[in-house]
Amino acid sequence: MNKTDPSMEAGKGRIPLWLDPADLRWLADHCCCPADASDADKDRCGRVRFRASTALHKHGQSR
Ligand SMILES: [Zn+2]
Repeated sequence: MNKTDPSMEAGKGRIPLWLDPADLRWLADHCCCPADASDADKDRCGRVRFRASTALHKHGQSR
């Protein structure tokens, strides 16, 4: 598996985000897109939730 490389992530303009497992779990499950959300918004929502669940998996916190 490829580990997250902090300097590479920073190179992509990303910043670290530390969340409690409970918060990540909530985020992974929480889609609050309205019915008329744009595709860009739904994409972003899906991407964020995917990353949240990936982070949980990496730490063995998935259900
Ligand atoms: Zn959503």
